[in-house]
Amino acid sequence: MTRVDRQSWDVVVVGAGGAGLRAAIEAREQGLRCAVICKSLFGKAHTVMAEGGIAASMANVNHNDNWQVHFRDTMRGGKFLNNWRMAELHAQEAPDRVWELETWGAVFDRTPDGRISQRNFGGHEYPRLAHVGDRTGLELIRTLQQKIVSLQQEDHREYGDYEARLKVFQECTVTRVLKEGGRVSGVFGYERESGRFFVIEAPAVVLATGGIGKSFKVTSNSWEYTGDGHALALLAGARLVNMEFVQFHPTGMVWPPSVKGILVTESVRGDGGVLRNSDGKRFMFDYVPDVFKEKYAESEAEGDRWYTDPDNNRRPPELLPRDEVARAINSEVKAGRGSPHGGVFLDVSTRMPAEAIKRKLPSMHHQFKELADVDITAEPMEVGPTCHYVMGGVEVEPDTAAAVGVPGLFAAGEVAGGMHGSNRLGGNSLSDLLVFGRRAGLYAARYAAAFATEAAPVVADADVELAEAEALRPFGAETQDGAAENPYTLHQELQQGMSDLVGIIRRSGEMEEALHRLSGLRARARRAGVEGHRQFNPGWHLALDLRNMLLVSECVARAALEREESRGGHTRDDHPGMDRRWRRINLVCRLADESAEPAAADSALGLVRLERREARPIREDLLALFEKEELAKYLTDEELTS
Ligand code: FAD
Repeated sequence: MTRVDRQSWDVVVVGAGGAGLRAAIEAREQGLRCAVICKSLFGKAHTVMAEGGIAASMANVNHNDNWQVHFRDTMRGGKFLNNWRMAELHAQEAPDRVWELETWGAVFDRTPDGRISQRNFGGHEYPRLAHVGDRTGLELIRTLQQKIVSLQQEDHREYGDYEARLKVFQECTVTRVLKEGGRVSGVFGYERESGRFFVIEAPAVVLATGGIGKSFKVTSNSWEYTGDGHALALLAGARLVNMEFVQFHPTGMVWPPSVKGILVTESVRGDGGVLRNSDGKRFMFDYVPDVFKEKYAESEAEGDRWYTDPDNNRRPPELLPRDEVARAINSEVKAGRGSPHGGVFLDVSTRMPAEAIKRKLPSMHHQFKELADVDITAEPMEVGPTCHYVMGGVEVEPDTAAAVGVPGLFAAGEVAGGMHGSNRLGGNSLSDLLVFGRRAGLYAARYAAAFATEAAPVVADADVELAEAEALRPFGAETQDGAAENPYTLHQELQQGMSDLVGIIRRSGEMEEALHRLSGLRARARRAGVEGHRQFNPGWHLALDLRNMLLVSECVARAALEREESRGGHTRDDHPGMDRRWRRINLVCRLADESAEPAAADSALGLVRLERREARPIREDLLALFEKEELAKYLTDEELTS
């Protein structure tokens, strides 16, 4: 066994995006010692890329807004499949989390009378997204980092050591959550630069690792998003819930090829941008589904009036939830009415003066000018769907963010499942990660604090050796003919297969084919080999990430095959309707053999077992927030009469 650095902390947070940092701040404020580990540089996480804003019913721009309206919008967006308790906590606590950011130094855009400004976004009834231009995530992370620095300064004053109670380990990747006697005992990982292994012992681990987009070919996600936290949770014995729900954001860049998938923020539509096909038609008016008909404008004139008089007009259909807009774009392109590079046109140039575009959408202006040589103040953008977000994730207790079934494991942010149901509304991720990041940090701290009086679980040497052997396998990989598999080739094949067969529109035969291909890829991935040594070796890192992407992709494909209806981010060509009987069914994935290594447990049936689990009925007082006619669209007759 090589030398493995070991340290002991009370709480380990894996991930330094918004959820991870908010959890770490909370754990430290509870007086616990907290280590934060992140795969890339500190400050470089998806949260930093978030553009549009944080959804919170502060009612600064429209006084009719409140948590109940936000709750309703979130449930509608998720097509009522949301874990309603999470949606309730989220809607109630989001305003406090935004205020708190302001007290920590965040500088939000203001309304003319000096309040935090809030903008419109798809699926939100009122202007609700607190924002900083189109760089909200950057300000959010800056503020959380600043808070961390201030806590570290306090610790320096008290202990003479900035990192006495809060330390960030950057460019370190966790590959295993370790357990003793069924309870979490710590994590194992490697330092990207040196390749050295480390173990951090801690009774409580918070997963805050973000999304899974890198399993798909066209994605807004960056290289780190290989579903690590989802896989770590599965491997530790936790469950993943509703993994079939993957959000394809309607507007990613489509040209040039090198930037395909990069996000074009929904604020473009929130601030007045419209979608047109190659005939110049605003086609979204043809795609308003029945469940949303009453809430959306029937004519362009009404939609346009809504921007200045929202109380007396209905919103334009460009602001339908993302799943609806993505499917509509897909249909237009398929019908031959797309743009030259396979998207549709998104236009702000004819809707706002150039100065307003540059002021409200500075990043978009810069992004298109630099990457595509398109001036969005003078010409339309070309956009198309891009894999953006996963609604499915670790099954957690709503109030505590504790992973079901694994004492000591917690999850928050995009890696946690349930909150967004079958489709997330824009802006609800930043609020989600603040609300549940805080809760995860709080309950992880309380859990860890109990070990002040009893012995904490210990990391066994044998487990470290196993984790080490697994991590080193790519260096010794060989096949019968002596040639190892190239991890990059495997990754490309995985992405192509997932995009083609489990993408935005799904069919049973194709998903069966996907599962078949995944089985082949899993076998080949065990022979994924790399050359060279452990010092900064991206091929090696990818070979390790493949385990996670393959596991998560299997969950997505299995759940998508099982759910025979179309709902939110899951569209079945062979089951096009939403079926009320499916609304109460959660699909839960677990590892087939939790005691074995993935390789040993693999079989023709795959590594993952899926079960249907009936969701808890929605609480009466929350149901009372909706009209009976609306509920009838989602709930079965028995549910309505019971
Ligand atoms: P992330 O911010 O994704 O952070 C994950 C962290 O985990 C990173 O530090 C990463 O390095 C680390 N990590 C991952 N794996 C490991 C590992 N194995 N070991 C150690 N560390 C690991 N949402 C909104 O609400 N509003 C918006 O306007 C918005 N705009 C977006 C724009 C873009 C371009 C993208 C990609 C997303 C956007 N989203 C938006 C979604 C939102 O940004 C993300 O869902 C959210 O930031 C996720 O936060 P998180 O804290 O869960 O994880």
